[in-house]
Amino acid sequence: MRGTRQVKKRRKKRFTTGIREQNQCRFCREGVKYIDYKDVAVLQKLLTNRGKIFSRKRSGNCAKCQRMVKRAIKRARYMALLPFTN
Ligand SMILES: [Zn+2]
Repeated sequence: MRGTRQVKKRRKKRFTTGIREQNQCRFCREGVKYIDYKDVAVLQKLLTNRGKIFSRKRSGNCAKCQRMVKRAIKRARYMALLPFTN
């Protein structure tokens, strides 16, 4: 029938887990002063499977750490440690 095209309902993933206990981001909590672009394991957790950088809302980083992450990821991409896109 016309107009009854089935639309798959995408389940929105919920990132918030109730009440926030910590108000600091994970890098601030660990006392990280510099995010190294060679830490691919750390940086890969901040990327989607398509190679995009997670937003602050998603990753929970503060503005300062998100900037460091951004810089580190862009350096790592240039050094071919991380993909620009998948
Ligand atoms: Zn931070």
